[in-house]
Amino acid sequence: FDNRPGHIWLDGGFVPWGDARLHVLSHGLHYASSVFEGERAYGGEIFKLTEHTERLKESARILDFEIPWSVEEIDEACRQTLAKQGFKDAYIRPVAWRGSEMMAVAAQSSKIHLAIAAWEWPSYFDPELRMKGLTLDLAEWRRPDPRTIPCKAKAAGLYMICTLSKHAAERKGCADAMMLDWRGQVAECTGANIFFVKDGAIHTPTPDCFLDGITRRTVIGLAKDRQIPVIERAILPEELSGMQECFITGTAAEVTAVAKIADWNFTPGDITKTLMADYTTAVQPKKAFAAA
Ligand code: PMP
Repeated sequence: FDNRPGHIWLDGGFVPWGDARLHVLSHGLHYASSVFEGERAYGGEIFKLTEHTERLKESARILDFEIPWSVEEIDEACRQTLAKQGFKDAYIRPVAWRGSEMMAVAAQSSKIHLAIAAWEWPSYFDPELRMKGLTLDLAEWRRPDPRTIPCKAKAAGLYMICTLSKHAAERKGCADAMMLDWRGQVAECTGANIFFVKDGAIHTPTPDCFLDGITRRTVIGLAKDRQIPVIERAILPEELSGMQECFITGTAAEVTAVAKIADWNFTPGDITKTLMADYTTAVQPKKAFAAA
């Protein structure tokens, strides 16, 4: 991944892809003082760009640092990165971290860096599986109590248990893992939020200890537009046997059907298929509609 053609935006300007390096004594690497975003562009427009940039700035503040570029400047740098790479449909990854000026737990005066890369990533999961429905593992790791970590930040440190859970899932031949929270309630997947359908209504866990994804909120809006009731509540794993459909949402994952989690089975049905199609429509660039 570190030696491709193209450019990465780094600290205010473009550098060749392979030259976008950082020092090994970066605080972000040793102590996880690093926050990031995952965005997708469709037809040349980054979907909900400003919401992503605002979340990035807020994630940094939660980790006690301020990214020294404004929301407008970061939005523009993301657009420029996409254009510089010549992509219309791509994944965009802004990442901000503390530099190497102070090598200890405290790092108040370290320099704050920001990089933005874009690459083509058509489907996070196998496209055929996305329609048939994924098989998910039940993760051993649980989302921690919000009193033990800043759970609203999209911060590198929160992904340690996600990588462990995703590796364990893939070893078992599963596409991903569903994680419970510290109370034993259903939480989310390693990089996506989760929804269930029961008797025509959507049920999804209340995001009180995990990311309230931008895709999650978009899909809740799409469901409401279709008068499909959405119930946000605590969901216990033993309730899953009564759920008929299941799907997950995320910028990378988009809306993806789930067919199985451990021993619970689901059948991708009308509501999942409708929301998959509605999401595909919703992400289309506004300019295309204006021109039509
Ligand atoms: N949960 C986790 C752990 C994630 O990494 C993501 C992807 N950013 C999500 C949920 C979904 O968030 P979004 O819809 O904003 O991409």
